[in-house]
Amino acid sequence: MRVLIVGSTALDSIKTPYAENPRLLGGSASHAALAASFFAPTQLVGIVGEDFPRRYLQLFRRHRIDLDGLQIAPGKTFHWAGQYEVNMNNRRTLKTELGVFERFLPVLPPAYQRTPFVLLGNIAPALQHHVLDQLQHPKFVLADTMDLWLNAALDDLLRLIKRVDALVVNDSEARQLTGLDNVVAATRQLHRLGPRFVIVKKGEHGALLSAPGGLFLCPAYPLARVVDPTGAGDSFAGGLLGWLASRRGNLETNLRQGMIYGSVVASFCCEGFGVVRTARLTRAAIDQRVAALRRLAKF
Ligand code: AMP
Repeated sequence: MRVLIVGSTALDSIKTPYAENPRLLGGSASHAALAASFFAPTQLVGIVGEDFPRRYLQLFRRHRIDLDGLQIAPGKTFHWAGQYEVNMNNRRTLKTELGVFERFLPVLPPAYQRTPFVLLGNIAPALQHHVLDQLQHPKFVLADTMDLWLNAALDDLLRLIKRVDALVVNDSEARQLTGLDNVVAATRQLHRLGPRFVIVKKGEHGALLSAPGGLFLCPAYPLARVVDPTGAGDSFAGGLLGWLASRRGNLETNLRQGMIYGSVVASFCCEGFGVVRTARLTRAAIDQRVAALRRLAKF
């Protein structure tokens, strides 16, 4: 079945302690759509400016990503600049230039309105609501967010969380949303806000799913060297949803497996700047790493 991904489509300028790369393909939707495309036909909703390099459009097309929902508007593409410390869990935003993103209103082409699996990637919660309003009977909606919206649009975000099947947040966002330091206690609290499924990401320490059937621990693939973690969370969510859309049967079982596949795609994402590594990825390489992760976690 098909997957619909909405979020930011950006040019990212990324600095790590070891290297610096300007204007790479980035954005929550770009990372997530590429990740989903390894598993299911993927539709992308976003906006870019006239400066958006054609080679990035070609990259999406090579992954058979449907771009009917990608608006190309006069003006500049959203530009985000960030810097990582030696401990790459610490990131600082240096610049956010909205460009055409300022006028973004996500409009779903008619063919997208019945897409069953939907990722509301990180954008303003008001825009995520707008997408939900256009959907007809989605099977499964997963919402992602970032700390910015917890501070700038909390009411919209809380209303959104009530409307979705699943919420994915990182551990610091879970703490901020609930005021609870303990992640397990925080997931319980997050269920009370609405969603049946709550996923808490813990960076290099994997992710925790809380679902009707109980908890599930998803490991992260251990990497000896992280080049650039930007987009790892989006790759995780995109891969997870792509896997889910490709499976029949029990939703919760598929969700657990989907987290493993998402986690593996995210690990590849961290091995290159921007989408450099993900763009060269194959389904065979993903399957191999899933098998390796299975061996690592077996006892
Ligand atoms: P992640 O590393 O998963 O947190 O996601 C990084 C991506 O988020 C980058 O590619 C950025 O382009 C994108 N991003 C940064 N700030 C924003 C924002 N305010 N709204 C939407 N996307 C953003």
